[in-house]
Amino acid sequence: MEVFHCYEFLLMRKFQEDSLLWNELKAETWVNLKTFLGAFQDRVLKTKVDGSDCVENDTDVSRYKKISADLWFLAVTLEKSPHRLLAFLNSELRQESEDVQIPGQTVLARYLSHYNFVEMHLDSIFKYGETATLPKELFRCRNVRVLSLNFNNLEWIPPDVGRLCCLERLSLTNNRLQNKSVPHTLTFCHHLKELYLDNNLLDALPGFLLDMPQLCTVHRHGNHNYFKATFMWYHTDVNDRVLHVLDEVQKRRKPTSSYNPDSLLFLSATALVSSNINFFEPGLLPNTLQEYVADMYPKFSICDNCHTAVPYSSSGYRVFTFKNPYLGNTCVPFQHWACSRSCAEAIEIPAHQEQMRAAERMDEEYDNYIREIQNEEISLPNRSFCTLL
Ligand SMILES: [Zn+2]
Repeated sequence: MEVFHCYEFLLMRKFQEDSLLWNELKAETWVNLKTFLGAFQDRVLKTKVDGSDCVENDTDVSRYKKISADLWFLAVTLEKSPHRLLAFLNSELRQESEDVQIPGQTVLARYLSHYNFVEMHLDSIFKYGETATLPKELFRCRNVRVLSLNFNNLEWIPPDVGRLCCLERLSLTNNRLQNKSVPHTLTFCHHLKELYLDNNLLDALPGFLLDMPQLCTVHRHGNHNYFKATFMWYHTDVNDRVLHVLDEVQKRRKPTSSYNPDSLLFLSATALVSSNINFFEPGLLPNTLQEYVADMYPKFSICDNCHTAVPYSSSGYRVFTFKNPYLGNTCVPFQHWACSRSCAEAIEIPAHQEQMRAAERMDEEYDNYIREIQNEEISLPNRSFCTLL
C-alpha cells in the first residue's frame, strides 16, 4: 500500500523551487546516492541473513547525515523511502537521456504519477503565515482513499477534491475553513464515509453534506463560531431562518451603459455546474475544459434545493437548519444557500418539521425514562423511611 508522506511532498516542492538542488541530486550526487542506496540494500540483506548491522561505519551514510537542517525532509526521505526516490530518479534520468519531457508537468506531478498512492498524509505541510495553497497535482491521484490535511492553515479546499472518486476518509482538522471553503464537489466523492472538520472557523456544517447518505462519521468540534452565531436560530421560525442576502456587488456597482455579455464558455460552465453532473468523470470533458470549470467553480453559489449556479456575489437566501441527532452528534446546525424564496422554504420547512418531530420523540423518550424511574422507586421499599428509622 503506497502512502505519500509530508516529507516527500516537501522534498518535491523544494525540487520545483530549487532546480539547482534538483539537478545536483540527479547528476553530481547521483553516484553517491546510488552507493548509499546500495549500502542500504546490503544492510537490509545482511540484517536478514546474520542479524548484524554493518551500516554504521559506512562513509556514504555518514555523508548524508551532514544534510543541512533546513533540508530535513531530504534526510527523512532518504531514510524512510530511499527505494522510492531511487526509482523515481532512475525514471527521470532515463527520460532525460531519451529526451522525453512532458511540457507543463511539475516534479511533484511526475513523482505522484510514478506511484499508485492510496493514502496521503500531508499534515503540517505549510508553515504558519505561509500562503496555504494546495497544488492541484495532489488531486490527480484517483486511487487515494485517505487524505489527511490537518494543521495546514487552509482557508479553502480546491474543487478538484471532487476528482478523488475513491476517497473514503478526509481529515481537515485545525485549519481556517469557513462554510464556503468546503466545495460542493465533495458530493462527487461517493465513497466518502469519514469527514473530520474539528477546530476550523465554521458556524455550521455545509448543507450539501445532508445529500451524502454514505457519510457515517462527521466530526465538527471546536469551531469557534459554532454556538454563539448559529444556535440562536434554533427556536426561531421559518421567517428568521431564511435570510435574504443582497447582491453586494450590484449594490456598489454604478449604472453603466456598456454592454458586457458573458462568454459562451462561462455560460456553458454555469450550465454544467447547475446540472450537478460530475464533470471530473473521465471522458466527459476535454482536460482543459475540466480545469476551466474547476477554476470557475468557487465563483458560483449553488442552490441546495435546485442546484442552480449563480455568480457568488448574487443575491439569494441563506438558510439554517438543524439536524437532531446527526451521525452520533447531538443537535447540529447546517447552513444552506438557496437561489429563491421558494427554494429556501423547500429546504427549511421539511427540515423544521423533522426537527420538531425529533424534539417530540426525544421529549417522549425522556418522559418514559422519568416514568420508569418513578415506577421503580415506588416498587422498592421506602428507603428514605427506613433510613429515618
Ligand atoms: Zn434553487
